Amino acid sequence: MCSAFAKAQSITTKKADSIMMRSIYDFNLTESKSYEWLEYLSNTIGGRLSGSIQAQRAVEYTEKELAKFTNRTELQSVIVPKWTRGTPEFAYIQLNDLSTINVNVCALGGSIPTREAGIKAKVIEVNSIEELAQLGKSKIEGKIVFYNRPMDPKKIQTFEAYGGCVDQRYSGAEEAGKYGAVAVIVRSMNLRLDDYPHTGSMSYGDLPIENYIPAAAISTNDAEKLHTYLLLDKNLEFYLKQDCTNWGDVESYNVIGEIKGSKFPNEVIIVGGHLDSWDLGDGSHDDGAGVVQSMEVLHTLKALNYQPLRTIRVVLFMNEENGLKGAREYAKQAMLKKENHIFALESDAGGFTPRGFSFDTSDEQMEVVESWMQLFKPYLIHYFEQGGSGADVGPLKEIGTVLAGLRPDSQRYFDFHHAANDTFDAVNKRELELGAATMTSLIYLFDQYGVVNTTKD
Ligand SMILES: [Zn+2]
Repeated sequence: MCSAFAKAQSITTKKADSIMMRSIYDFNLTESKSYEWLEYLSNTIGGRLSGSIQAQRAVEYTEKELAKFTNRTELQSVIVPKWTRGTPEFAYIQLNDLSTINVNVCALGGSIPTREAGIKAKVIEVNSIEELAQLGKSKIEGKIVFYNRPMDPKKIQTFEAYGGCVDQRYSGAEEAGKYGAVAVIVRSMNLRLDDYPHTGSMSYGDLPIENYIPAAAISTNDAEKLHTYLLLDKNLEFYLKQDCTNWGDVESYNVIGEIKGSKFPNEVIIVGGHLDSWDLGDGSHDDGAGVVQSMEVLHTLKALNYQPLRTIRVVLFMNEENGLKGAREYAKQAMLKKENHIFALESDAGGFTPRGFSFDTSDEQMEVVESWMQLFKPYLIHYFEQGGSGADVGPLKEIGTVLAGLRPDSQRYFDFHHAANDTFDAVNKRELELGAATMTSLIYLFDQYGVVNTTKD
């Protein structure tokens, strides 16, 4: 092929792509169903913790909706842990004059309850798990350990600030339990000072069951308050009562909907988010947004009469929050069935204005992706970087799938993450739709061009 012809052809292709992307954005900003679906998931169904009735209703609702514009839907069985919060938690600081100050706390997901009368004990404040070893058993035994390392405000990528703190929440109880602490209180993973405690998963690791201790998050305002009172009186006492229960495993489902490829049906592209959420809010940002944006990808392509070359599948994962069982089961089944998953895109970073994508792939594939950047410029999408994708698509890395995650603006994400204010009103319709359009565009490009080294026809 002469090079002038090749060049002309590539320009033609680019033109067709930019016209298609214009249609994708136009459709999403005028006829998208994503906001309507989110309204139903958030306001009619509500928080969708794994194993709950709400999670089951979300499974049924999304499958019914997907059936309207896909060729095939499937409920993939997943065994998930069931944990419930019970009656709302209660906590206060008791000063040495016996006056008390109520504080906002919530049990961490997976925690055991306190005894019915609650726990009252002195508090030892630490900034890290490492600090426990320096203090030793004599200073920790019988006390409540208060982890108070804040998220680093200097990090521009707020997920990095989260990553720098979340060990306190995830492993804080396991570590403090080794030193004979009676409970742990963890500063909420939130860059803002407010009154909402933020839940999230925790683990007792290999700790013997008799050493399990209750674990709760405290709002950032109240963490500051507790810190200040401790400076004035390190013998103050803290009271905590929580009523949560671990029920063991129950059956739930990943929800799948797909449109079969017309030219390369055996090459599978997936796009997804997680259907489960925490129970305090209704999980609109985390991850109702990702769920409806993923559904919107296929809805948009179908509405635009686009016939995919490759099989495009929406996967709504169950149990991302407290077990990742859905992601593991999906990858396991993909391997058992020897399905060729060439590309997987996840949206699980909130429904905010999209900035671009992060990729987990080879340098060669990254070069191809970077050649598409120009197409996204009119939509103010400019972030295309190597570095992580998402928890739910992660297990597909083992079979060589190119992975990506939508990267919305993250500055306000942790204001809402896992807290009671992660509700429908916190999501902006237009921002949500721009995210869905951006995802649809990337899926379209992978459908058109496949991936480096795996497409041979
Ligand atoms: Zn999430």
